[in-house]
Amino acid sequence: MASLQLSLAPSPWGCRKELPTSKLQRYEPEDETKEYSIRDFRVHVSHKDTTVYRGLLTLPDSVEPVKVVVKTDFFAETLRPKDFEHEADMYEIHLWDLQDKAIPRCYGLFQHKGEDGKVSSFLVLGDYGDPIVEPRNLTNSFKGKVIDAVYHIHFLGFTHGDLSYDNIIINKDGWPFIIDLETAKPHVCGVKERLLIGEEKRDIGCAEMMQCAALVRAWANVYVKLEGVYTFYRGDLRRGNMERLLSLLSRRYDDPSVYRPYVEELVEQVEAEREYYRNIPPEKRLIVVE
Ligand SMILES: [Zn+2]
Repeated sequence: MASLQLSLAPSPWGCRKELPTSKLQRYEPEDETKEYSIRDFRVHVSHKDTTVYRGLLTLPDSVEPVKVVVKTDFFAETLRPKDFEHEADMYEIHLWDLQDKAIPRCYGLFQHKGEDGKVSSFLVLGDYGDPIVEPRNLTNSFKGKVIDAVYHIHFLGFTHGDLSYDNIIINKDGWPFIIDLETAKPHVCGVKERLLIGEEKRDIGCAEMMQCAALVRAWANVYVKLEGVYTFYRGDLRRGNMERLLSLLSRRYDDPSVYRPYVEELVEQVEAEREYYRNIPPEKRLIVVE
């Protein structure tokens, strides 16, 4: 059980009661007398610092076992109880409302004190499935759900801190769940409006949300092909930029003006896309957090 030692400090408003000098015990929301057990325990993945098991958890107040994953540093060279406690706090306190919505259900952090006195950690979470394997196959609807899930974490005042495909689980109904909250940090989110899947990359006011959008390939492709002729940067394809676009072609073709109508058509197409996203009414851009 973790404890907290307070340093000596004056009591407020002249109160004669003094701060405790003994160690404070870590708050455990679960009744200590409750007994959990896990069966069918097996290694799922193992890295230098972390091993993840899968198994079936029997809860004290239920006959039906639940599928869980158990994340542990038991085999790691350096144990990191504080990181695990931080992660458990993220699940059980700060992001409690997101359990079963944007993050898995947490069944608690269990600690083991070795003979050397060092504490290793076992964090038990609902097993919702496997991470994203092939980002190119993600549907727009799923991309939007991932962005919303990460935004919910931001809305509650935290960044994830380590977003990657490995940390986005897809459940059997196609919903994303964000895992691995060890590096979550307090955050005030600058995002004011929803980013729209397929729109050109723009600054939305939050680095991690930008990163999230890039990760799930939510932005329009940076490159636009004029089939068989040239591949342009999307950002360059603008009305009024025609001479520069043709000068790019002049590096490859003797008479780039031949391609002018095709380049103009491409520019019109990209400008029309821009206009489409610009014209989406503000109420459709509002971020609604339930
Ligand atoms: Zn943010």
